Amino acid sequence: MARASFSPCPHCNAALVYLEGAAGSTMAPKCPRCKVEISVARATFLMADHSRPAAKPIPRAKLVP
Ligand SMILES: [Zn+2]
Repeated sequence: MARASFSPCPHCNAALVYLEGAAGSTMAPKCPRCKVEISVARATFLMADHSRPAAKPIPRAKLVP
């Protein structure tokens, strides 16, 4: 069964939906925005996440200036 998780693209920070085991899944899916391959642990299909408003992503590792 397909499993969905939500994460930003590690390259361009676009909001993405990771669908594990979905039709068209691959081990090196490409980000729909920046077209860079993202390495995944399981075959995954990438989709742009339009379910959330286009808020600015919060940088997790850059909270300290
Ligand atoms: Zn990207």
